[in-house]
Amino acid sequence: MLSALTITEAHEKLRKKEISTEELVRACIDRIEAVDGILNAVVHRNFERAVEEAKMVDATGEFSSPLTGIPYLTKDVFCEEGVPTTACSNILRGKTYIPPFDSTTTKRLKTCGAISLGKVNTDEFTMGCSTETSCHGVTRNPWDTTRVAGGSSGGSAVAVSSNECLFALGTDTGGSIRQPAGFCGCTGLRPTYGRTSRYGVMSMASSLDTIGPLCKTVEDIAIVMEAISGKDPLDATTGNVPVPMYRQTLKSAMKGLRIGLPKEYFIDGMSDDVERAVREAANVFASLGAIVSEISLPMTKYGVATYYVLVPCEVSSNMARYDGIRYGHTVENPESLLDYYERVRSDGFGPEVKRRIMIGTFALSAGYYDAYYRQAQKVRILIARDFEEAFQKVDAIISPVSPTPAFTIGAHEGDPVAMYLEDIFMCPQPMAGIPALSLPCGFSKSGLPIGLQIMGPQWEDGRVLKIGHAFEQATEWHERKVAI
Ligand code: GLN
Repeated sequence: MLSALTITEAHEKLRKKEISTEELVRACIDRIEAVDGILNAVVHRNFERAVEEAKMVDATGEFSSPLTGIPYLTKDVFCEEGVPTTACSNILRGKTYIPPFDSTTTKRLKTCGAISLGKVNTDEFTMGCSTETSCHGVTRNPWDTTRVAGGSSGGSAVAVSSNECLFALGTDTGGSIRQPAGFCGCTGLRPTYGRTSRYGVMSMASSLDTIGPLCKTVEDIAIVMEAISGKDPLDATTGNVPVPMYRQTLKSAMKGLRIGLPKEYFIDGMSDDVERAVREAANVFASLGAIVSEISLPMTKYGVATYYVLVPCEVSSNMARYDGIRYGHTVENPESLLDYYERVRSDGFGPEVKRRIMIGTFALSAGYYDAYYRQAQKVRILIARDFEEAFQKVDAIISPVSPTPAFTIGAHEGDPVAMYLEDIFMCPQPMAGIPALSLPCGFSKSGLPIGLQIMGPQWEDGRVLKIGHAFEQATEWHERKVAI
C-alpha cells in the first residue's frame, strides 16, 4: 500500500521514478475512501485540486525537496487559501469560512511542493482531549473503534496511523499533538514555543499554542520541521534562531547522555501497562549508553490547575472575534445588535467552548484577576523554573504521555474535570515553552498503543528528535500496523 510509505521511502521512490506523484496521491485518496467512513478523520476533501497538483509535479519531474509530491492532511484550524476551514465549530460552518490566505506553515509546505489532501477533525477550536467536541462528530481510534483517537489533533493522528496520508499537521496547546499521537501509535512533536509560526492558524491560547507535525517516524518529523520552522515576520513570537539540519543531528551518539525520569510522572491510578512500557523504555536508553536517573519536578502537581486557569482566560479573549458579523454563522431577524451577538454565539459555540469563555471571563474580571489569573501566571514561572533546574542535571527527560491508553468514547461525558485530568503529564511543558516528542513505546495487554514523551530544553528540538530516533532504531513499536 503506497499510502503506508514514510516520507523518506516515498521520496526515494519518486526520485527514482518507481512511482508517480499521481499514483501516491490517488493511493491516499483510495485509502481515505476505504476507511474514513468508519474512522471519521477527514472533514474536508480537496481531492480534485490534489490530483491536479500531483500531475503538475509529475510534469516537472523534479523532486528537489524531500517533501515534493508528498500528500498530507491539515488539522481544520490551519487557513489554506480557498479551502473551507471551520475549526470544527458550527460558528464557522454555518456559512462556511473560506480563508483568502494561507497560514505560514501551509505556504512553506506548498513552496516545497507538498500536496494538501484536505482537512482533518479536531475538538472544537482545539479544546479537548478526545475529538468528541467537534461539530463533525467523533473520530475513532483505528486500533479499537470503540475508543477515542485522543485530541484535539485526533483527526491528524488517525490519518497518519491508518495511512490516509504520509504526514499531518497538528497544534499543541496542552498536549493536542502528543496525546493523540500516543493514543494512535504514531509520532508527534510539540516544538519549542516560537520555533514554528502560528500565523494563519486559529488561536486557542496564544501564549501556549504551537504547531507541529505528526508522522510515521522521527526522521519524517525532522524533514517536516526543517521545512516549516524558522522566523516569520508575520508572527512576532517566532524566534530568530537558526534552523538546524535536524536530519543530520539524528545520528549522533547517545553515549553519556543524561536522561531524567521524573518521579512525579508515575502516579497512583496510572495503568500498569503504561508504567511498565515507560520503565522498559528507560532500560532501552540505558542499554544504548545513556545515564538514566530519577529526578524531581516538584511543581508538576500544579500543572493542570494552572493550565486550566490560563487557557480559559486566553480563550475568552481569542473567541471574542467570532461575532457573526464578518464571517461564519448568522441568524435572521435580530431585535438588536446585542440580540444578534447572543444568538450567533449561543447557536454557534458548543458547550466546552462556552464553558471556557465563562471561566476565563470570570477569572479575568475585576476582583478575581489577582486571585486567579495573576496567581496562575506566578505558578507558571515556577513550573518553568522546575524544568530549568532539571536541565542543569540532565540533558533530557522522559515520561509517559498519558496515564492510560485511549479511553472509550463517551467515558468522560458530563465530567469536564475528569477530561482535564487526562492532560496531567502534558500541561507543564507548554507553560515552560519546551519541546516534547511523543512516540510509540509499547502496547497494552488489550493491544492499544502506549506513548513515550521525550522533553528537552528550549530550542533543543534537535536533541529530542535524536533521542527519539535512537529509541526507534532500537525498538519496533513504530512498525506495528493497524488492522483496519
Ligand atoms: N486537552 C487540552 C485542552 O483541552 C489540550 C488542547 C490542545 O493542546 N489544543 O486544553
